[in-house]
Amino acid sequence: MTLNAVVENAVMLLALCWLLAFTTSEWYRSAKLSAKLLAGLWFGSACILGMMSTSFGESGIMLDARTVVLSMAGLFGGPVVAGTAGVLAAGYRLWLGGIGVVPGLANILLPIVLGLAYRCLHRQGLIRIGFWQLLGFGAMLHLGVLGVIISLLPDHLRFIAAKEAAPPMLLALPLATAALGLLLNDLLKRDLVERALRLSEARLRAITHAIPDLLLVIDEDGCYLDIICADRNMLYADPSLLLGRHLRDVMPEAEERRFLDFIRQTLNSDTPQLIEYGMQTLGGPRIFEGRALPLEQPQGQKRAVVWLSRDITDRVNTELERRIAAIAFESQQGMLITDGQNRILRVNRAFSRISGFSAEEAVGQTTALLASGKHGPEFYRTMWASIEATGVWEGEIWNRRKSGEIFPEWLTISAVRNTTGDISHYVAAFTDITDRKAAEERIHNLAFYDPLTGLPNRRLLLDRLQQAMAAGCRSGQLGALMFIDLDNFKNINDLHGHQTGDQVLRIAAERLQGEIRASDTVARLGGDEFVVMLENLGDAPELAAAQAEHIGVKLLGSLGKTYRLNDLGLYSSASIGVVLFGTDGSSSDELMKRADMSMYEAKVAGKNALRFFDPRMQQAVQERLRLEDEIRQGLRNGEFVLHYQAQLEQSQGIIGAEALVRWQHPQRGLLTPGAFIGQAEHAGLIQALDQRVLEQACAQLALWAQQPAFAGLTLSVNLSAHLLYEDNFVGNVLDLLERSGANPARLKLELTETLLLDNMSEAIARMTQLKRHGIRFSIDDFGTGYSSMSYLQQLPLDQLKIDQTFVRGLPEDTSSLTIVRATCALAAGLNLEVIAEGVENEAQRTMLLANGCHRFQGYLFGNPQAAASFEEMVMVSRAEQSTLSP
Ligand code: C2E
Ligand code: MG
Ligand code: MG
Repeated sequence: MTLNAVVENAVMLLALCWLLAFTTSEWYRSAKLSAKLLAGLWFGSACILGMMSTSFGESGIMLDARTVVLSMAGLFGGPVVAGTAGVLAAGYRLWLGGIGVVPGLANILLPIVLGLAYRCLHRQGLIRIGFWQLLGFGAMLHLGVLGVIISLLPDHLRFIAAKEAAPPMLLALPLATAALGLLLNDLLKRDLVERALRLSEARLRAITHAIPDLLLVIDEDGCYLDIICADRNMLYADPSLLLGRHLRDVMPEAEERRFLDFIRQTLNSDTPQLIEYGMQTLGGPRIFEGRALPLEQPQGQKRAVVWLSRDITDRVNTELERRIAAIAFESQQGMLITDGQNRILRVNRAFSRISGFSAEEAVGQTTALLASGKHGPEFYRTMWASIEATGVWEGEIWNRRKSGEIFPEWLTISAVRNTTGDISHYVAAFTDITDRKAAEERIHNLAFYDPLTGLPNRRLLLDRLQQAMAAGCRSGQLGALMFIDLDNFKNINDLHGHQTGDQVLRIAAERLQGEIRASDTVARLGGDEFVVMLENLGDAPELAAAQAEHIGVKLLGSLGKTYRLNDLGLYSSASIGVVLFGTDGSSSDELMKRADMSMYEAKVAGKNALRFFDPRMQQAVQERLRLEDEIRQGLRNGEFVLHYQAQLEQSQGIIGAEALVRWQHPQRGLLTPGAFIGQAEHAGLIQALDQRVLEQACAQLALWAQQPAFAGLTLSVNLSAHLLYEDNFVGNVLDLLERSGANPARLKLELTETLLLDNMSEAIARMTQLKRHGIRFSIDDFGTGYSSMSYLQQLPLDQLKIDQTFVRGLPEDTSSLTIVRATCALAAGLNLEVIAEGVENEAQRTMLLANGCHRFQGYLFGNPQAAASFEEMVMVSRAEQSTLSP
């Protein structure tokens, strides 16, 4: 047994162990028992091979490198590996037998125990695995092995064995131990590193695959070297197709240039570079943020960058939306955002402008900051219930400004719910509607109040009346409606002007209000008409009427007092018509009409009076209404005809006629104007009627013009001044004359003075125009109206017609005589014709003649009659005259 043999043995074992090392990862780290047993088999087999390739020395002992293998199996493999190897080696050694069996077995156990001890110490960090440590360990182990050999061999062999074993044991095997230890340690370390590397690479790959971003490696020429794309839809269905292609292959030139510049810039910098760009992807246009870093490349390869592209489309859109929301938030409307507990989080500038609270003052406070105290808890309860149920509330609310001023606003509150459906925020938007409210109130006042007196107008009165009537029906309480008209108001207006009139009306309004209870209503209908509505007058009509009368009398007294305006003392009594309401279910319109009628009755009764509505009046009203309808129908059917009453001149006989309208009523026969003129005027039908009369009169004149016997006759036509004031009255009359062919000089229009005074200047203008065409004018019923000398001078008149009331008194009644005389003198003075109507007897004629009136009209000469009989009468009269005349 030479040192060479041991070295050989050791080298072979080393080689075997080195082979074994290829599977190190299996037995070294793995907890699998099978792997460890296999490794144990390997180590054991190595020992057996070692023992096989050596032979017994002179001392009868085998010297091989099994101690090296087994100690390293203990150190690196642990108890299972070393144990398995030990059992195998021991088995073989036993089988070989020989004198060295016992020390041989001991030398199998010893390296295992020491190897395991080393392993233990190493694990505790007490000893490293290095060359010197392993060499020391090998030396110590083999000293021990040598010790075992010497001590266990019979005395005669001890020396030989020591001589034989010592050199290889102390020279070769410690070195072999160190070499095998280092080899195994190195292999295992490398294996560890490789495993760590593989692990780290796998982890890196997992991470790169897990990030949603697009990862590219692009070289400085724009060539795609690597692409990792988690979202397959991001760019191309198969991004690997890009590998090896260039930027220019997939994007426009300008874009490519921008990217290349960016890559170069990244390569020249050692910090990450950022770029934002838009790109058309399979999922539509998206915006990306690229972040690139230079990548270390093996020598000789082109420089490259790692480029991480993140899809920031959503972020950009969100940012854009946030910006839009921020701008929208700063609208003209006041806005505030609160949390779920109504704590203000944010307000806009309009909020501060409207409320007076700055953002700093408002944020952190609850919305109670703005509460006006004007709404009760019920209001807020309903509001929050609506928000809870529908998510929104909208309405008018009163809030308080910082200044303490309370103002109305139009408020919209919307609840914002989080993903779990709970309300997280409230968004409130409001506009200050102070101005709108004021405007609304102004409009309301204009619509419902009389601007002059501030009293309710007709509309509001009717509204209240309806409510009062409904309430009366329910409660059985009676009320009273009083129509009040100032008796002398028109004169005050005419004489003192409208301003004074307005003042009188205001005072009258105040006086009325002063006399009634706050729960009653005073309204002004217009002009000098007022209405007082009294409510809750009890359920007994007599008592209610008595109360109403009592108040009515008070009102008369109050209104009848002198109106003191500066230095003026004006007086105007009033007429009041009263109607009770509450039980009979009449309409408000009817009640108003009845009160109006009663007032009219009071006027007829001599003014300054109070009249209650009488059911008989109602009948009269209905009759009047029916008459109105009949007049309309009569006009349509041509039922209005003319009768002619002769007008004479003392010496010439019949010189003309007055056309007097008659109504050929289908049921009632021929009616005189007294039965319908008043109603036609009241119903606004008089213009149409007069127009019809004028047409017929012109036609008649035209007919007469063709007959010499009548060609010289004049025709007087009564005209209501309403017609005179009609818009195109002048044109209309001239047109009529032209169409009929009547001679204007034969037409005389009779007007009453009262109506002429209404609008003197207009009357003068129109009359003058007509007069230019030859038409003449007569003042009818002269002396009965407000005769004023001045108007007689101004109006372009031709004739005065003494009213029949004065003629009737002749010859006895001196006052009539005085008026007749005066009228005749006036006419002579103004160079006007004078005619007397209603001449019924010779005495009257004689008296008129004696006073200078030579023209007459009256039953003495003939009644009004149809054209034919009138013409006959003219012929007879002419005949008589010619026989009388010499
Ligand atoms: P008037 O213009 O003053 O007409 C005279 C009225 O006296 C006529 O009544 C006539 O029939 C009546 N009368 C004539 N002679 C005598 C007499 O000797 N004694 C008495 N007691 N009365 C006499 P009539 O036709 O009933 O007309 C009444 C009034 O109706 C007219 O008064 C006139 O104001 C009006 N009137 C008549 N026709 C028209 C018309 O076509 N248009 C308008 N607007 N009013 C008319
Ligand atoms: Mg007349
Ligand atoms: Mg008359």
